[in-house]
Amino acid sequence: MLRQSLQRRGYQSLLVVSWTPAGRCHACASSQPCVRSLDIVLQCGMSCQDRKISRKPHFMHAKVDGEIKYLFDTPPQPGATQVVVPGLTWLRVPLPFVLDHVNCWLLDDGGAGNAVTLIDTGADNSKTRELWDRVLEHTLGGRKISRLICTHGHPDHVGLAGWLVDKLGVDLHMTLVEYLAPQVFMEEGKKPISAAARAFFNSHGLDDLAIAKMDKSRETAPFRNYPLPSSFVRMRDGDSVKFGGRSWKILVNGGHADEHASFYCKADGILIAGDQILSRISPVVGVFPTQPQSEPLSDYLLSLKRLRTLPPDLLVLPSHGLPFRGLHERIDQLVTHHAERLAALENLMTEPMNGVAMAHGLFPRAMAAEGQTVMALAETLAHAHHLVATKRAKRHVSTSGAITFSRC
Ligand SMILES: [Zn+2]
Repeated sequence: MLRQSLQRRGYQSLLVVSWTPAGRCHACASSQPCVRSLDIVLQCGMSCQDRKISRKPHFMHAKVDGEIKYLFDTPPQPGATQVVVPGLTWLRVPLPFVLDHVNCWLLDDGGAGNAVTLIDTGADNSKTRELWDRVLEHTLGGRKISRLICTHGHPDHVGLAGWLVDKLGVDLHMTLVEYLAPQVFMEEGKKPISAAARAFFNSHGLDDLAIAKMDKSRETAPFRNYPLPSSFVRMRDGDSVKFGGRSWKILVNGGHADEHASFYCKADGILIAGDQILSRISPVVGVFPTQPQSEPLSDYLLSLKRLRTLPPDLLVLPSHGLPFRGLHERIDQLVTHHAERLAALENLMTEPMNGVAMAHGLFPRAMAAEGQTVMALAETLAHAHHLVATKRAKRHVSTSGAITFSRC
């Protein structure tokens, strides 16, 4: 019975059981192996051979980073798949950015048509289209994608949504803001940089030459934006949806994107986190010209607080990096990361400083690298605006419109 229950949960090979020295399970204090305790066992993606349940901590196969326990040592090759738990398959899609991949998820809906729900698409360029052609023809083994869900509207997640919808005739499910936002950006992207955006960058210390360079770089962006379909199915916070043979609660949060959707399956303890929680890197939280006075870090920290109310032992599936367990630990790390960055920025503000000067202090490598100025400035401003909102700094606007920040 124990084995069947474990197999239903997707454990193929038992690697570690967490027992106290007295031989009691950490999770429920039972002295017998129990399903509750085995929920904290790592799944091995490398072997199908069952091992004996050990009462002693066993050598672990997958990576461990403090309390973060990765399910697999390595991701699948680009375009290849890996079953994570029964009915849920991981597809690694390469990206033409510094961040070189995105995780897409294929969920078996079952039924007569053997349909599959797809979450996220990768960016739109010829290589990714070729990859999808191969996946649709070979990898899915005759199964058809019947529904497309996008966690949010950034190009690495929604880039090929319109193309796949055109090709497959399926519905696109998204939150309202994330459906609309990329369409606004796409229209903006067709025109030269707007006067408002130019004023934004100028006010934070970027000179005209740097703005012209940035404007030019848009023409050589390594991806296109395929138009989104003209209709979609709206997802809302708190709604329950069924896909992949499981029930999921939609959790809509801000900070990284304004209405980013994650999906929580309580019954099987799975969180499809999207970009809201990543395993190794911190999702971008930035102030951009479209919302020059926004304060997204408060939204992001609030979302972390909310997600920390979920059980700690969930299997977390992030859009970048490796699936892991250790949700609370990872959230605590992200909170600490932002607290440290806020403190570092506060320390820099010994005198009024503009955004570019602060970004050089906070992100010297990114500011020296080609093409990373906007992201570094956006992240810096998000932290500066949070310091202002929490009364740790003041924002000054000169008569010429130049914006500076100083600590209180
Ligand atoms: Zn992403």
